[in-house]
Amino acid sequence: MVELPDPPMPTVDAIWRAREAEAEARGPRYDGYGIAASALGSECDRQLWYGLRWASPQEPMTGRKLRIFERGNIEEQRVIDDLRRAGLGVLDRDPETGKQWAFAMANGLLRGKADGICEGVIEAPKARHVLEIKSLKAADWRGILKHGLAKHKPEHWHQLHAGMAGLGIARGLYVGVNKDTEEILTERVRIDHDTSARQEARVMRIAASDDPPPRISDKPDSFACRFCDHRAICHAGEPARRHCRTCLHFTFTDGGHGHCARFHEPRKPDAQARGVDCPVHLYLPGLVAGEQIDADPEAETIIYRMKDGSEWTDGAQEALVE
Ligand code: SF4
Ligand code: SF4
Repeated sequence: MVELPDPPMPTVDAIWRAREAEAEARGPRYDGYGIAASALGSECDRQLWYGLRWASPQEPMTGRKLRIFERGNIEEQRVIDDLRRAGLGVLDRDPETGKQWAFAMANGLLRGKADGICEGVIEAPKARHVLEIKSLKAADWRGILKHGLAKHKPEHWHQLHAGMAGLGIARGLYVGVNKDTEEILTERVRIDHDTSARQEARVMRIAASDDPPPRISDKPDSFACRFCDHRAICHAGEPARRHCRTCLHFTFTDGGHGHCARFHEPRKPDAQARGVDCPVHLYLPGLVAGEQIDADPEAETIIYRMKDGSEWTDGAQEALVE
């Protein structure tokens, strides 16, 4: 059967465009300095490597997505109010900064935020708990109840767990709200120091590598790859973005900062993004869908044989503007 197109809804379109314009007026979106704690839920090191290297284009922020984020923020505040109603103490801002609790590990390359720190959790009133709040689809709600958080939503488990490690608090409280029914579930998490050490070492290893780690699957339609943001680069040979993090002269130092061996200078994240205009940018060979066949150190070029048999010279082109 031929699918009928959605009927035009100009008012709805106007809502999305207005939200998008509002977001744009707030200024440019920045790539994350490091690897987000929630990304640790992925078993694919290559996915984390591409993310850290800002390899794929930023996902467009549509009006609908902006609304989903807003709903998450509203839900967080509602849950914090509910926890306080139930008698728990919730510190939702870090008193030192006046902002949301933030943490960084692995030389500042593993980063995240927590929704609060709780005291007086009914099940364990003496222990402080790091708080993570999520608004859930009904299927995820059921999945967590049936299989537990770590198994059904590893990205949420890792986000909470990394927050516990980063803030130095051994207990965590996960609060999930079923978007359809307003039911609430909680799950308490204990810190696992082996997991923390393993994940920190994983991030350090990924940051130190100039090559993309092996794929978790060679099938682009596998469950692991189907929804991956980097599928086009990883499986279809699409070009990566051009900036310092994709350049072979760049190495990470700490906190998302880096160093350029070509100009012998430090590169802060905002300067890294400006690498788009650098005339001597050279792609990390692992980001080029071809085989390196020659290089000219004087001209600062590298020649590749691409998969279709053509030759491509990196370094000879003018700087592109994204
Ligand atoms: S497409 Fe698959 S193999 Fe490639 S980075 Fe994503 S999850 Fe990993
Ligand atoms: S050569 Fe240019 S693009 Fe490469 S790291 Fe240095 S400043 Fe960045």
